[in-house]
Amino acid sequence: MLLFKKEKDLKAFIQQEKLAGKKVGFVPTMGALHDGHLSLMALSLETTDVTVCSIFVNPTQFNNADDLEKYPRTIENDIVMLETAGVQVLFLPSVEEVYPKNLTYPDFDFNGLDHLMEGEHRPGHFEGVAQVVYRLLDIVQPTDLFMGQKDYQQWRIIQSMLEQVDWDIKLVRCPIARATDGLALSSRNVRLTEEARQIAPKIRQILSKAKAEIQDLSIGEVKNNAVRRLNKIEAFKMDYFEIVDGQSLQLVKDKSNTQSLVACTAVYIANIRLIDNIILKAL
Ligand code: AMP
Repeated sequence: MLLFKKEKDLKAFIQQEKLAGKKVGFVPTMGALHDGHLSLMALSLETTDVTVCSIFVNPTQFNNADDLEKYPRTIENDIVMLETAGVQVLFLPSVEEVYPKNLTYPDFDFNGLDHLMEGEHRPGHFEGVAQVVYRLLDIVQPTDLFMGQKDYQQWRIIQSMLEQVDWDIKLVRCPIARATDGLALSSRNVRLTEEARQIAPKIRQILSKAKAEIQDLSIGEVKNNAVRRLNKIEAFKMDYFEIVDGQSLQLVKDKSNTQSLVACTAVYIANIRLIDNIILKAL
């Protein structure tokens, strides 16, 4: 695996690959890699010629300094995982490399996509995400970008960002990879105590119940049931549970008026914040 730390070296390499007619797949990550990340790599390896993974814990998307500090960093293990998977390129930039002085960004308008859910509960988060993804895409200029449905709102915002810039990049939404008990894989799962880890799959079970109920109940009823179930679990502190339109990410009251529906939730177990979602109605 080739390892690049500098923008100009990576750019030169990718330019060469693209001139040779190769498709370049890009998987941006914050490291602490797990099988969820590897499922994105696998899709990129399968459908493109060169897979570039970046590992960069982006300080600008953390609204909580403690969360940034405690974010797991396992670079040696990450490198072994990427090499074993057959990823060809790792981009491992410093904060200074990603954010040199006097960098400018387009003024994106996400038309409310960034207001609810993570946007409401983590102020500034999506500005940071859009900033870093824009910057990384500007450096890598891939043909294909792979992002996980695990972060549904993030995926939708990046889709909107790509519609606003003049780059020919195909965005691929990859399904949520889960542990056998249903818990969505996340770098934060390693911070769960054994007891918390036992209870965490209930998040997925409650989302699945919402999916089962959506045929017969109103959106309000499905939401109330889910909130009640989440609140009933003592170890959980629900941050939000929302049922939104899969495109506009706005709250939906009447399910007959929308083409796609997604239930999204964020739950604290002790002080670990986990997010998950389920598509209730696909486009
Ligand atoms: P992160 O390192 O958390 O920023 O995640 C990097 C990418 O991996 C994002 O596109 C995430 O949506 C994706 N990802 C994280 N966890 C999962 C998962 N369990 N299943 C699928 N994709 C995931």
